[in-house]
Amino acid sequence: SLDARRPILAGNWKLNPKSRDEALALLNGLSPSPSDVDVLIFPPLPYLGDVLKALPAGVQVGAQTCSNYEEGAFTGEVAPSMLASMNVGYVLLGHSERRTLFGETDSDINARVLTCLKEPNLKVVLCVGETLDEYEAGLLNSIVDTQTRKGLSGVSAQDLINGRVVIAYEPVWAIGTGLTATPEQAQNAHTVIRNTLAAMYPSTAVAESVRIQYGGSVKPESIADLMSQPDIDGALVGGASLDAASFNAIVGGA
Ligand code: PGA
Repeated sequence: SLDARRPILAGNWKLNPKSRDEALALLNGLSPSPSDVDVLIFPPLPYLGDVLKALPAGVQVGAQTCSNYEEGAFTGEVAPSMLASMNVGYVLLGHSERRTLFGETDSDINARVLTCLKEPNLKVVLCVGETLDEYEAGLLNSIVDTQTRKGLSGVSAQDLINGRVVIAYEPVWAIGTGLTATPEQAQNAHTVIRNTLAAMYPSTAVAESVRIQYGGSVKPESIADLMSQPDIDGALVGGASLDAASFNAIVGGA
């Protein structure tokens, strides 16, 4: 990755662990963040308050999704302003599980992105990636291009240059399957995303400054080769982030 883009390693806990005590035990096993990288965890919402009180030094916290509504009669939703007011720094948006299991469309995801960016202290990790069928049909470039364009519709160049959006490239066929994209495959997809950014925004600073994480079965053994690719700026880690030693090793190996 370019020196100008600070590495960002994130752990997506998904719907794990099943109790607060287990969540705090996992948290307690995490090392403080090295000073030259961003380390971020996405715990389930009910644990956020306790997690924020017991965070290892330098580790940042995000929510796994949020509402596109700002306030009002929307039972069960969580607004970006609520998260920002608790010192939650990031929101993960457009994860493939949100897209496929919970029906979030590109326009739903875009609405959430724009609502989050109204909060000056919130940043977004926007996930994009093709399914196995799409990959085999040769649609990687068009899917990733479309999801990036639609997800970022209406986002200003300045917000992107200011680092308020991180993109996570996650091939759906590599999530939770043990199949990691090769570093070359991931690099290729990251290039597609940077080309899309360059086509969307006249300022070349946008494509050069946006950080792009790879996600999909990242392990301590695979992180160094992924990070050695010029356009891979970090990782979004699911399964391996549920084991503190593995996540620490991934952060250390980046
Ligand atoms: P995985 O999940 O590391 O378990 O493949 C990645 C993700 O879904 O963000």
